Amino acid sequence: MSANEPRGIVGGKTLNRTSPMLEGGETVVEKIGQHRHCRSCERAIPYKQEYCGEECETDWKGKMSSKKRQLTFFYILMVIIMIFAVSLTFLG
Ligand SMILES: [Zn+2]
Repeated sequence: MSANEPRGIVGGKTLNRTSPMLEGGETVVEKIGQHRHCRSCERAIPYKQEYCGEECETDWKGKMSSKKRQLTFFYILMVIIMIFAVSLTFLG
């Protein structure tokens, strides 16, 4: 007697691939000559705008204000060093 067991079909799973079509991230604006780039993320945006959105605008302004503060601090430090150097020269 031969035990001829028919093998069941292995793995009945069918991979249902649902890959979303990735359209090129570039916007149409890129093709138009009159455009500029977002100050924050450098995406192509219409010429009239400075940022691609409000989020970028606030983000950029936040960055700028912190940068400005740093620059001011650096400037003050420079002035202090200058005054220090000048006073040293005068004192001896
Ligand atoms: Zn942006």
